Amino acid sequence: MKYDIVIIGSGLGGLLCGAILSKYSYSVCVLEKHSVVGGNLQTFYRKDCCFNTGMHYMGSLDKEQILYKVFDYLGVIDRVEFEKIDSECSDKVFIGDKEYSIANGIENYKKRLISYFPDEKNQIENYLSKLDEIWNKTPILNLKKINFNDYSQNNHLENSLIEVIDSITNNQELKSVLLSNNGLYAGNPNKTPFYIHALIKKSFTQSSYRIKGGSDLLAKALKKIIEENKGNVLVNKEVIKINIDKFKAVSVTVSDNSTIYADSFISNIHPSQTNKMIDDGIFRKAYVNRIKNLENSIGSFVLYIVLKKKSYRHISSNIFFSKSKDIWAAVYKDNDEWPKAYMLYTNQDKNNQEYAESATIITFMKFEEVEKWRNTSVGKRGNDYLEFKKNKSQKLLDTVYLKFPDFKNCIDTVYSSSPLTYRDYTGIPQGSMYGIIKDYNNPLNSHLSTFTRIKNLNLTGQNIGVHGILGVTMNAILSCSSVIDINELLENIKNK
Ligand SMILES: Cc1cc2nc3c(=O)[nH]c(=O)nc-3n(C[C@H](O)[C@H](O)[C@H](O)COP(=O)(O)OP(=O)(O)OC[C@H]3O[C@@H](n4cnc5c(N)ncnc54)[C@H](O)[C@@H]3O)c2cc1C
Repeated sequence: MKYDIVIIGSGLGGLLCGAILSKYSYSVCVLEKHSVVGGNLQTFYRKDCCFNTGMHYMGSLDKEQILYKVFDYLGVIDRVEFEKIDSECSDKVFIGDKEYSIANGIENYKKRLISYFPDEKNQIENYLSKLDEIWNKTPILNLKKINFNDYSQNNHLENSLIEVIDSITNNQELKSVLLSNNGLYAGNPNKTPFYIHALIKKSFTQSSYRIKGGSDLLAKALKKIIEENKGNVLVNKEVIKINIDKFKAVSVTVSDNSTIYADSFISNIHPSQTNKMIDDGIFRKAYVNRIKNLENSIGSFVLYIVLKKKSYRHISSNIFFSKSKDIWAAVYKDNDEWPKAYMLYTNQDKNNQEYAESATIITFMKFEEVEKWRNTSVGKRGNDYLEFKKNKSQKLLDTVYLKFPDFKNCIDTVYSSSPLTYRDYTGIPQGSMYGIIKDYNNPLNSHLSTFTRIKNLNLTGQNIGVHGILGVTMNAILSCSSVIDINELLENIKNK
């Protein structure tokens, strides 16, 4: 059998491409190397508690907002329960000894911020208008016609986040609050472009939601949509080779030795992994080396904590903690005083809703910390790795107890993951959280196109443009433009 489109990898990007293209009646086959779909949308259970491995909250999901519109068009809204996070305090931010409740809804956000910084009203308004500027010039987010020849749409790629923030205000405390959700994009003052911050920040400022029951429900809904449109989503199918004939992709070889043919291919995996599947000489050496040498974002160390029953109250907000006003330090400074920052959220106990049944705590971790176990696999890394994780878990917990001392007595069991876990479960090099770093010093090099030299092989996923649910959704729409008329798609989404 020959498909219209084969998609390599069932992360959010691959599944979205599959859902869009199958809705256009193309025959689609998504191939996933693991036994479950979703990549960073996967969840797992410990002692009956469901834990997200990656994505845990998202913005732009109010009815008139962009993610809602795309999900409504695809039929996701009818299948997944998105739970709104309290608009009066979607994020609780701790910076040193100070505490801020961040509201959402643009006007609400602005009002709250001005109440903390009344002398900075103009600066806050200026900041919000700069977020708007970037948002408004991104056609997909506004369901506006895309003109691929209009390069003015890209002239913001080289604006640096730190320079824009420094140009807005001299108030160090305000700067820290503006940057407080750095955990969502691992910002680095020497690299991060303003647009990465602007799009993510604006999306979460519009509205804030989580998926009731776990992020894998989004992956499962997309899989179901593809299957209802007569597509296939096959697990335990690791693609090991993309077969090219006369600069055209013709098939993929799977680890079980099967060959799957298609007219077009979309790769949802890291571009350096995609390149490894293609015979030498097809892509230019310079391109292959460039991709190989692009830096990936920092990885994460995550604690998944089962709490004693009815011991700790559920916190409806996300917690962002930074030891100091230097929010950037957690990403790019040395490992002294690790961890310098963390994100924390609790999961509601289904039977006792005012309590939390579990908590997830995420902090950054460099791959070098676990490099000596790089040749090991899950469950077989040895006792010294387990000891390493135990020490790191304790250090992270000790930092959490500084702000939440009651937490200590509520813990039943602690599980943890390191960048190696992510590398092995998603195939992302070095277990990077957000894939290829976008660098304002080198915007065109680090910002990859969905197109490749092979006309019927396209790329999608978080490595291409912006990461996270919003970025990956935009990238999926762009990737489908190799097969369908993207402006017609945007019009269809708009008119649903
Ligand atoms: C700890 C953490 C927390 C996060 N929190 C949030 C959040 O709250 N909100 C948000 O918006 N974003 C969040 N993100 C980011 C978000 O989860 C990712 O940007 C997004 O899920 C990436 O999707 P993707 O399409 O690039 O695919 P990936 O998730 O990278 O999936 C790729 C898939 O391809 C498969 N694959 C790899 N190689 C092969 C092969 N050879 N053959 C077949 N299949 C293969 C993998 O198994 C995987 O299933 C978080 C990320 C992390 C790590």
